[in-house]
Amino acid sequence: MAGIELSPEQLEKFIGLLVNYIEEQRKHYRPAAAPLPPSQRTGLAKFFPAAIMDTRVLKLEGERVPNPEFLSVLKIMGIGPLLDPSSLPAVTFVDVIVFQVPYTPEMLFHELVHAEQFRQLGTQKFMQHYVKGFLASGRFEDILLERHGFELARRYAQQPQEAFSVAAAVQAWIEQQYRAASTKH
Ligand SMILES: [Zn+2]
Repeated sequence: MAGIELSPEQLEKFIGLLVNYIEEQRKHYRPAAAPLPPSQRTGLAKFFPAAIMDTRVLKLEGERVPNPEFLSVLKIMGIGPLLDPSSLPAVTFVDVIVFQVPYTPEMLFHELVHAEQFRQLGTQKFMQHYVKGFLASGRFEDILLERHGFELARRYAQQPQEAFSVAAAVQAWIEQQYRAASTKH
């Protein structure tokens, strides 16, 4: 435990603030974002459902996504470590991917897995999983939604011709999480 202990009520409020942040950023960036690069569309369509192929992508130049205001407040209060969206290579806001660095096909694939996780879980549940994973250790790598994204993107990068269903993989992952949660007392 990395020093953040939240009551269930605090956790719920915290997640509510994050959901608002995600929705605000999605609205802000969507108009400037473009459809998936035509050069990669055909390849990606073998892995993702049609809805995910409508995801839009934006590469920021000379700016970073803003951090949620409440993160700054928590930092001033000495609560942390916290995950700064502005420090990540990319952030997916539901169906809008914002890259903050030049990106590879593998990185795009990883973010599209997040888009599929958002699609299946909904923003509220996505953020619940995300925050719980982070609070458990304070480490980005321990967020299970991230681990699954990295795992599937690696599989794609190693064999881009070997199509598999990301939707089925994410669905199986979600079912496994709920089975694991229900076997805990
Ligand atoms: Zn990620």
